[in-house]
Amino acid sequence: MVTAVMPTYGRIDIAFENGEGSYLFDTSGEKYLDFATGIATNSLGHCHPHLVSAVREQAGKLWHVSNLYNIPQQQLFADRLVENSFADTVFFCNSGAEAMEGCLKVARKFHFENGEPKREEIVCATGAFHGRTLTTLSAGDSEKYREGFGPRPDGFHHVAFGNLNEMRAAMSDRTAAILVEPIQGEGGINPASTAYLQSLRDIADEFNTLLIFDEVQCGMGRSGRLFAYEIANVTPDIMGLAKGIGGGFPVGAVLATERAASGMVPGTHGSTYGGNPLAMAAANAVLDVILEKDFLASVVKKGTKLKNDLASLVEKHSAVLESVRGVGLMLGIKSVGPNLELMAAFRENKLLTVVAGENVVRILPPLNVSEEEISEAVQKIDQTCSQVSS
Ligand SMILES: *Cc1c(COP(=O)(O)O)cnc(C)c1O
Repeated sequence: MVTAVMPTYGRIDIAFENGEGSYLFDTSGEKYLDFATGIATNSLGHCHPHLVSAVREQAGKLWHVSNLYNIPQQQLFADRLVENSFADTVFFCNSGAEAMEGCLKVARKFHFENGEPKREEIVCATGAFHGRTLTTLSAGDSEKYREGFGPRPDGFHHVAFGNLNEMRAAMSDRTAAILVEPIQGEGGINPASTAYLQSLRDIADEFNTLLIFDEVQCGMGRSGRLFAYEIANVTPDIMGLAKGIGGGFPVGAVLATERAASGMVPGTHGSTYGGNPLAMAAANAVLDVILEKDFLASVVKKGTKLKNDLASLVEKHSAVLESVRGVGLMLGIKSVGPNLELMAAFRENKLLTVVAGENVVRILPPLNVSEEEISEAVQKIDQTCSQVSS
């Protein structure tokens, strides 16, 4: 008999009862160091006092009103995103897939209103993941995820991630946008090079098309910059955010320049929950912390330390760990054996991680993790590797 919860996930048999900072406690009281953070979503760990008080206060006043009315908390968060990014305007939604769908709609509508309605095609990258709706599945690279779900939304091409010749060859007068993740997450923690991102900007401009970045996973401080595009000093025309921006509360956002969003007039797009007062209280509180002086510098510092320590473990345990990759606190270790088994072994030692493509185990600590907690994780990984190889 089917389970009451539709069995779409292969779940690990643990249930957590509460969380505190970088730690999770399961229903039997076991304590885990959480370097999975709900897949890069609990950006400030669990029960951060500033987030708890902001959400509690808002919960006692007003949760939801719909976008039929002005929502001051939403206007405030949009103003702050605009002030701190390339964007001039922001649309709010509730998930990464919804954000990426929004990005695609903005791009196609731009060309439609600009007198080029045939510019509908989106050129995407191999290894890409953009969500699980029918359209974002077409944008993603995984054939397995698409299989069995009927006719596919048209107009998506894939070229090798990092290959500029292929990207250039894919351009035509039908191209609406180039879509990439500046750091691929699900694909296996693959940072795009600075030169690649800069050239994508040039190609988009040369072929009169738009550049979309999917920063659902790598955005909002994860890379050590507020947005990963800052590392390459390249700005997109449109960008999707979700995961970490609500600190665990479901929030998604579509950011765009005024020009790219010029087709998005009243009535063109919507989302009932999008940007409601409760979600915006959470998102504003996350941003308060991430914008504190020295916060992002500390992400860079801690990320560098963790990556260096992991590189030492790769040398020490070369029979178990193949390599380390990533930027900021978005790191991955490539496993010699199956990544699922390595992740399970980490979990036995009470360290939570997430698997990714290319046999990688993702290491995604809270952005406010302490140096001591990083050392604890490194010690657990060291210990696990010794056990696995003996
Ligand atoms: C997780 C993810 C998505 C989809 O987000 P959902 O909230 O699961 O819909 C899209 N793009 C990237 C890069 C992601 O990591």
